[in-house]
This record gives sequence, structure tokens and C-alpha cells, in this order.
Amino acid sequence: MWREWALALVDLLLPPFCPLCRARLDEGRRDPLCGSCWDRLERLSPPYCRTCGRPFPRFDPGGAPEAGPCEPCRRRRPRFSYARAATLYGERVREAVHALKFQGKTALARPLGDLMAEVGSMVLPVAAVDCLVPVPLHPSREAERGFNQSVLLARRVSRRWGVPVEPRALRRRRSTPSQTDLDAEERRANVKDAFQVCRSRAVDGRHVLLIDDVFTTGATVSECARVLLEAGARTVGVLTVARVA
Ligand SMILES: [Zn+2]
Ligand SMILES: [Zn+2]
Repeated sequence: MWREWALALVDLLLPPFCPLCRARLDEGRRDPLCGSCWDRLERLSPPYCRTCGRPFPRFDPGGAPEAGPCEPCRRRRPRFSYARAATLYGERVREAVHALKFQGKTALARPLGDLMAEVGSMVLPVAAVDCLVPVPLHPSREAERGFNQSVLLARRVSRRWGVPVEPRALRRRRSTPSQTDLDAEERRANVKDAFQVCRSRAVDGRHVLLIDDVFTTGATVSECARVLLEAGARTVGVLTVARVA
């Protein structure tokens, strides 16, 4: 009760605005997102590749929700068992992830993490996972930014699911150049041996769910999965906020 009053008072003194569209937060708000931006995040729906989650064109509405592996997965099987995302990497989610990472709007990890938890509990091909492992940033990058967005997202999912986060299980041991302009092959080379398992006790024999912001080609999470499996993880899956189509 007291908390609600305090929030109402803060709202009155500092009217909250949506960081994406600047609208006043109103009905349907998912703080700090307004209801309309929240509704416009493009939730991913089946059918998609059962391995990497790549969305397929909806040719058969009555068909299986998960189709067999897509062409790239058949050619080269990723190291993770499955990857799923809450949304398609459209304009709205791109803005949200950008504001979270580069403008320090860390409150956005709340609605984005909630969305991962909500969609994730419907689309993960397993009933439960043992722990959440955020994809690490290089320590110098994390110090510069002040946080790791994947850790913030994982903490939110953890709260909703009651599954522990292991933020120190993986370490990024070298700083890798931005992947933005690289193709799939170059991305794989770029992240090769970039990660190291620091706490193998945390992952040994466990079903690990890697948490990241955006899935592009899957090179980063596949490399993380490789070292986690080498360190004894039983299964490694992936959950991200968004996926490039
Ligand atoms: Zn908005
Ligand atoms: Zn695939």
C-alpha cells in the first residue's frame, strides 16, 4: 500500500515518459515502456527452426509449430541444443535494446526480461533448466558501460522463473571487435576462443540456458556453448530478447 502511494507520488512529481516514443506512461504500461510500445514488440511465433529458432514463412497454419532444422543448421550444426527468442529484431525492439545498452536505460531490462520469461516459458523445448548463464562482456567493456545487459536480463528472468543466475560462470578473455559488419564465417573466427569457463562446478552436469540480448548468426552463443559443454554442462540452450530473421 505504502509502495503504491510512494509510486503515485513520484509519478505526480516526475511524470514518467516512455524512453522509446516519449509518450506519457498510461494504461497497459510496462515500466518504463508505454503500453503501445510494449504491444508493438513483435513476438515470435511458430513455425521456426527447432534448432536455431529461425522463423519460417507461415505456409501451413495447421502444421507443426516447430519445423526440422533450417538449411544453415543442417550444413553446420550449432553447438547449442536449441535457441529461442522472445521477439523478431524489428524497429521497436532494436530501439529498446539500443537504449538499454548504449544510453544506460537499464530499467528497460525489466519489461524485456519479463517478455523473455513469458515467451520463453511457452517456446523452450524443455520444461525446466538448471541455471541461467549470461553471455559475458569483456571486463574492460563492462567497466566502461557500467553493467552487462545480459546479466540484467538474466536476473529478471531468474526472478520470474526461480532459476539461479551464474553471472561468473563464463568469462570473456579477449576483447573482440564489433561483429556488426562481419558475415557468419568471420563472426565465428572473431569469437573463437574468446570465452572461458571460470566456475565449472556451476555448470557441471547441468542444463544451462545462455542469456543474451540479440541472436544474429549465433556465432557468439555457439562458441559459449562449446566451452560450457567441454566444462561438463549436460545441455546448453539459448534464450535472447530478439532474433534477426
Ligand atoms: Zn512508447
Ligand atoms: Zn536453424
